[in-house]
This record gives sequence, C-alpha cells and structure tokens, in this order.
Amino acid sequence: MRKEPEFAISAGARQVLQRLTEAGYEAYLVGGCVRDLLRGAEPHDWDICTSALPEQTRACFVEERVIETGLRHGTVTVLTGDTPCEVTTYRREGPYSDNRRPDYVSFVSSLETDLARRDFTMNAIAMGLDGSLRDPFGGREDIQRELIRCVGEPAQRFQEDGLRVMRALRFASELGYQIEENTGRALREHRAVLRQVAAERIHVELCRLLAGQNVGEVLRQYPEVFCQFWPQLGPLIALEQNTPWHCWGGWEHTIHAVEAAPADAVLRLTMLLHDIGKPGCKSTDEGGTDHFFGHADAGARLADEMLRALKFDNRTRERVTVLVKRHDMQIPCQEKYVRRWLNRLGAEGFFQLLEVKRADSMGQAYEQVEGRLAELERLSAQAEEIIVQGQCFTLKDLAVNGRDAVAAGIAQGPEVGRVLNGLLRRVLDGEVCNERAVLLELLRAEGPEQTKAPHDKKGPPLITG
Ligand code: ATP
Ligand code: MG
Repeated sequence: MRKEPEFAISAGARQVLQRLTEAGYEAYLVGGCVRDLLRGAEPHDWDICTSALPEQTRACFVEERVIETGLRHGTVTVLTGDTPCEVTTYRREGPYSDNRRPDYVSFVSSLETDLARRDFTMNAIAMGLDGSLRDPFGGREDIQRELIRCVGEPAQRFQEDGLRVMRALRFASELGYQIEENTGRALREHRAVLRQVAAERIHVELCRLLAGQNVGEVLRQYPEVFCQFWPQLGPLIALEQNTPWHCWGGWEHTIHAVEAAPADAVLRLTMLLHDIGKPGCKSTDEGGTDHFFGHADAGARLADEMLRALKFDNRTRERVTVLVKRHDMQIPCQEKYVRRWLNRLGAEGFFQLLEVKRADSMGQAYEQVEGRLAELERLSAQAEEIIVQGQCFTLKDLAVNGRDAVAAGIAQGPEVGRVLNGLLRRVLDGEVCNERAVLLELLRAEGPEQTKAPHDKKGPPLITG
C-alpha cells in the first residue's frame, strides 16, 4: 500500500544538503532516513552521501562542529541545527575476502556506484533536497510492496557480508515486510557466512529483531538461520510435546511466548530461551503424556552458554538466565511468598518474572490461560501493595543494621550478615514485624551474655546490607 511521506526532512539535514549543493557538490539523503520517509515513518538518523571528498565536506562546515567519524571510510558527522548528520563521500567497496569487511574502499564520483554497494533496494534510494528520488534498483516500489530485496545478486551480497543475513531478518521483523523469494532463498543457503560475523554484531541485530512487530513470522520462517549461531535451538525446533498444557510443539509455543512478551530485549530473549532445556529433559509416562522434569535448571545452564557465545553483557545474561531458571516456579498468592520472591529477584526482576509467566501462559492451551492470567494479576497487585506500603523485603529495609548487631554483641564479620539475614527471613515470613524495638530485642538474644545490657555506646563502622 502506498503511503505518502508524513515527515519532513529535518532542518539540520536540509542545511547540510543546501551547503554542499551550493558549494557545487552533489548531495543526497540516503539509506534508512529515505526509506523511513517513504514509508511514512519518522527517521531516527540522517545519512547524506555526497560527491565531495571528506576534506571538501569539512571545508563546507568550518563554522559547525564536525566529528571525524570514519575519515578513512569517507564519513564525517556534521552537527548543525537540530540533528547530527553523517556525511559520506560516494564510495565503492573492494572485494570482501573475509566475508565481513571490504578489503578497501575507494571514493567514486557516481551516485549510482555508491547506491549499488548498499544492501537492500529500500536502503539504496537517494533523495535530493527537493524530494526528488534517484532510485536505480526500484526501492520505492519494493517499499510499496513491503518487500526486502537485495541490490544485485543475493548470493554474492550475502557472501560479501554475512551481517546482511541478520539485517534482512531484522528489517523483516521491525518493518513487517516479507523477504523477496530469491533473497530469502539465498540467505537460507548462505547462512553459514554468519560464522564469520562478530558475535556482538549478531546479538545487536538479534535484539532488534526480537523486539520487532513481526518477530513471530521471522522465527517461524527462518529457524535454520537462528540455529546457525545457536545450534542449541535445533532440538527445541523439533520438539513435540504431548501434555494437557500444550497445544503446540516446542518451537510454535516458543514463538507465541515471544510474541506475547513486551518488546524488551531481556524479556523477549528469555521467552526465546525459556524452554531450551526441554528436549534434554523429556520423558513420556505410561499414559503417553510427556514430562520435562528439571527443564528450567537445564535451560538456565544452556541459556547461559548461548548468551556467552554471543557475548552478551553480564547484566543481560544473568537476568535472562535467572528468569529462565524461575519461569516455571509456582509462586503461591500469599504475602509471605511474594515478599520472599521480591527479596530473591528484586522488584524489577519480580515483575519481569510475572511478565515471563504471563507470556508463557499465552502460549499454552487455551483452557488454561484465563485462570493463570488472573492469578498473575493477583500476584502483581499483591507485590505492588507490598511496595507501596513500604514493607520490608531487603536487608536495607530492615529496621536494624550491622551497627546494631555489633552493638548487641554479635562478632564483627560474617556472623553479622548471618544474624541479620536470619532476622530478615523471619520478617519476610511474617513471623516478626519490622520494628526496631522488636528486632533489637532479638539481636540482644543472639549476642553474648555480657554485652546484652547497655548497648548504646558509640557503635563500630556501619555495615550496610
Ligand atoms: P537503521 O538505522 O534503522 O538500522 P539503516 O538502513 O539506516 O537502518 P544503518 O546501519 O544505519 O541502517 O546503515 C545506513 C545505510 O548504510 C543502510 O541504509 C544501507 O544503505 C547501508 N548499509 C548499512 N549496513 C550495510 C551492510 N552491511 N551492507 C550494505 N549496506 C549497508
Ligand atoms: Mg541508520
């Protein structure tokens, strides 16, 4: 469907285009911003290509701040008006002997040559200041048809740069476009080039892909691409599960669960991996029902290994792993259990776990869903109330601290932590209330006889929990 541009070229980008053309050079908007303008979306960054050499570009902007982003590759960033603009000299790329980076780039004088090095037709359109298009590969028509198509021979383009395999899937998910048939076939056939792509670059594309509106369709259509960097997915994709809770096999359930989760990297990664331990834990009972005992623990170990392989940061890896490990945990809808889990996971982690459980339920047999969702709602309301009431669920919230413990005669060092944690446990369970007088009394009961009496002498340094 044809959409007319709803967003205008930013004032900053206009100014850059104007300055370069007034100086006698060619200059066009190019890449993502043109694609987004043509599909009626707001561009998030402004790329300009020009016949001016980097030095000449710089000379056009002596008054402005210019950052030499990648001078060797012909890119400078001009900071003008409201937007930074990346200005790149028309260039051609040399051969790709390592399937990831051109051996060299050379500056050229023709816009068409520059457009020909770009990955997909929708990304290879140039737009002049007046809105006129230079579109030698039919990108505009592909945008109208919502198609992702390689510029040139797909097999060759994917072999040059394996990252394009992930970019194609990422755009398909983000934009909700189909991948044109030859392009789709070539990326499947040549998916092994992903081996030569840096793990960090794969994971950046993967996160964007997972957060996309059309993630389910991409996972369904291209499972083998994901197996290329995460072979551990293979058995999950093949997994059949005969249980009263599931109406789908392992992969289709995973896809539904991913789609049901909020578009956030941690949650979507968790859903992608939450059942990764199932194939290795499958058993079938005499009645023919499948069981997956221990799959959450096994899954957490696999998830850890997979996230390490793609070089995810520790924070993401640790959080996803914990959520996978706990995704199946039954949390009884009682304050003391909610406080315990708030303590174990922290408030953010607790609410993430509820999202994970919600998304997991959405991918299960329909009869089960309503009851489970209602229970999760109750848990969420209970946790919110605990937080709003300022109830204690961490050591920091406890009405006594390390200084009080030492003043009560507890030996400095690990003993303090042990005693405070013991008190916290009792507070979480609702056995004792979080009142200073009550807790001080309990502390004194733990301390040695001789220090039990006057205890308000000047305390040792504060130990914080
Ligand atoms: P977005 O910014 O939304 O990720 P984009 O298309 O702008 O989309 P960028 O990575 O910013 O993507 O790249 C800008 C342009 O550079 C692309 O539109 C494309 O023309 C070209 N390009 C980027 N990466 C590649 C690549 N791996 N192979 C060929 N051309 C590429
Ligand atoms: Mg961009």
